[in-house]
Amino acid sequence: MKIEQISDHIWTLKSWMVLEFRVWVVANQDGKGVTLVDAGVGSMAKDILAFVEQLGKGPIQQILLTHGHSDHVGSVLKILEHTKVPVYVHPTEIPYMEGDLPYPRRKKAEQTLPKNVVSPLHIEEGGQLSSFGALQAYSAPGHSPGHVVYFHEQDRVLLGGDLFTSKKGKLKRPMPMFTADMQEAIRSSRIVEKLKPERLEVCHSGPVYHPAIQIASYIEKWSNDNK
Ligand SMILES: [Zn+2]
Ligand SMILES: [Zn+2]
Repeated sequence: MKIEQISDHIWTLKSWMVLEFRVWVVANQDGKGVTLVDAGVGSMAKDILAFVEQLGKGPIQQILLTHGHSDHVGSVLKILEHTKVPVYVHPTEIPYMEGDLPYPRRKKAEQTLPKNVVSPLHIEEGGQLSSFGALQAYSAPGHSPGHVVYFHEQDRVLLGGDLFTSKKGKLKRPMPMFTADMQEAIRSSRIVEKLKPERLEVCHSGPVYHPAIQIASYIEKWSNDNK
């Protein structure tokens, strides 16, 4: 596993297995422990725990998921065996990941985590999602029905999960085969225009700097008839 500190409070942990998989460790604002954003595949659990230990900023206090696909929740159960912490995901995502509903465009329901493991992100009146210290959750559906992204305002880093992929610093669409509603995902990409992160992180490819600059041409390229 490769580890890189990408901002004052955030480390990217990357693993390879045909695809690249990234998870993020964020030092909590209150100085008490860290937050894990996404949980990759099962084989990453040991290295994630070893890194958190070595970092010395305290234990994992919570796990925040961008969505419930199996390659984003893989190490959750192993981490919970080690340390019992809450695991948050958008409430819309829960019936899909708990196997009650098949993800859109999938024939069969698939349980990626057992029931009673995840808790719903709180939705305030007006639709604002929970924040966790400096990390604010934002709804960005399309790749999956309840996909969210997490913005670290102070560090200007957006943890984007599978909202995008990238190639050589350019924004690319999320992987079509695994995307529930591509047009909705394209519309959700406007979140980078609103937040203007300096750095966008995505799970399966490299970072994109100042992605807001590219968003108009990205949307024009992939919207409407140009599917
Ligand atoms: Zn996904
Ligand atoms: Zn993924």
